[in-house]
Amino acid sequence: MVNMWSLFDRIIDSCCALCHAPGHAICADCLSTLPLNTAPCTRCALPLPSGAPPDTLCADCQAHPPAFDRVVAPLLYQRPVDDMVAQFKYRQRLHLGQVMADTLGAAVGGQQALPLLLVPVPAGPQRLRERGFNQAAELTRRLSAALDIPWAGNRLIRASDTQTQRGLPRPQRRRNVRGVFSCAGPLPDHVALIDDVMTTGATAGEASRALKSAGVRRVEVWAVARTPRDRWNRGSG
Ligand SMILES: [Zn+2]
Ligand SMILES: [Zn+2]
Repeated sequence: MVNMWSLFDRIIDSCCALCHAPGHAICADCLSTLPLNTAPCTRCALPLPSGAPPDTLCADCQAHPPAFDRVVAPLLYQRPVDDMVAQFKYRQRLHLGQVMADTLGAAVGGQQALPLLLVPVPAGPQRLRERGFNQAAELTRRLSAALDIPWAGNRLIRASDTQTQRGLPRPQRRRNVRGVFSCAGPLPDHVALIDDVMTTGATAGEASRALKSAGVRRVEVWAVARTPRDRWNRGSG
């Protein structure tokens, strides 16, 4: 059975994951039409309403500054990015991870002061068993190689699986993840936390809080895509 699936995957992998044209991963046409997060909040990368002046903070960040200092999220989590992420995460199309890591790497490549360590948002033990891999660690490993920044998967620890965040309003998501992260081992002053998608920011905020409690001064969150507010009920972060 396993071999049959791997054969099936090899056939699928020779087509664009989005339009099924012959090729590999994502074809150039599909890549050029991925929705870009062009006018984000400078702190949390939430897409701002059209007409908002550039370099502004969203209302949430003004009212309750989050624990992270900055979020980089080059794509919007809507069609067809949601499809690409789902194929990577739930169907283990790992080569899509390279497309996602490249997209993220291009978005941070020109940055002046790069973080000294990349840390994936850890998966709970049960999620890890179900999926067989942590998608955030997979992206982190590839980014680390591309940007020549070390990564560590054992410094930020998730104590337990949390109830799925999907469909929960933000205050409940915050309660759901409160206290689940802890840190171990030495951490540098400047760290980037890596995830595939940032939804409300509750998980990233709590993980950043743990990193800061452990002495990290600056925490950036690097996510491939940010979920617009009107789609928060569909995402899981
Ligand atoms: Zn395509
Ligand atoms: Zn914001």
